[in-house]
Amino acid sequence: MQIHRLPVLSDNYVFLLHDSETNTAAVVDPAVAGPVLEKLEALGAKLTAIFNTHHHSDHVGGNRKLLKAFPAAVVYGGAEDQGRIPGQQHYLNEGDRVEFGDRQAQIFFIPGHTRGHIAYYFAPASDGEPGELFCGDTIFAGGCGRLFEGTPAQMVESIGKLRQLPDNTRVWCAHEYTLSNLKFAVTVEPANQDLRTRFTQVQAARQRDEATVPSLLGLEKQTNPFLRWDQPTVMAAMEQGDAVRSFGKLRGKKDLF
Ligand code: ZN
Ligand code: FE
Repeated sequence: MQIHRLPVLSDNYVFLLHDSETNTAAVVDPAVAGPVLEKLEALGAKLTAIFNTHHHSDHVGGNRKLLKAFPAAVVYGGAEDQGRIPGQQHYLNEGDRVEFGDRQAQIFFIPGHTRGHIAYYFAPASDGEPGELFCGDTIFAGGCGRLFEGTPAQMVESIGKLRQLPDNTRVWCAHEYTLSNLKFAVTVEPANQDLRTRFTQVQAARQRDEATVPSLLGLEKQTNPFLRWDQPTVMAAMEQGDAVRSFGKLRGKKDLF
């Protein structure tokens, strides 16, 4: 399975999964259809599936047009998003599995950003290969999604599930927010050397106009405060003795940053 990253709108990423064996493709969170159709044409591939993480228009905006071009494509989304995802045919719950090519993705139910948000996790195809996590607007490189429809407790539980995946998991998040996220992160943990190093590297990468997605889950665990809400350094910075309150305060500060 090859993964193509398509930058669209101002800072969204759409991911096109291509199975060269069968020349079929699946798309994750098509904000718009145009660039997806162009890429499919260039690959000569047929779209068989649309994997949506949540109902926001910058994640499902291309569904209808893609279905027009590929009427047999199957639209997947979370069970809680029923009625909110254009063309949705499958309603996924925690622990469900979906197939693409010779791979299978496991579904995580991860409410917080929205009440119906899910993630798709492809375990490594073989030893030494990375797993692939499509987590929409839940974990961002260096940050996390805003709590539009959920509570800090829900987001802690959701990110807590994803945090248990192997370090060697590629995090395919849906926005290029990394630089502004890390600007905030260094104010939370100024003494975190891994974070400082990452911040410097990301500043340079963005100056060269390079994408910073995917990142690796192991790096997120070391440097992303929203995967470190229960670390003593972060809890001290938030002046909280309770981990969920620490997360809530962290998210609140980021909203105002
Ligand atoms: Zn969103
Ligand atoms: Fe989004």
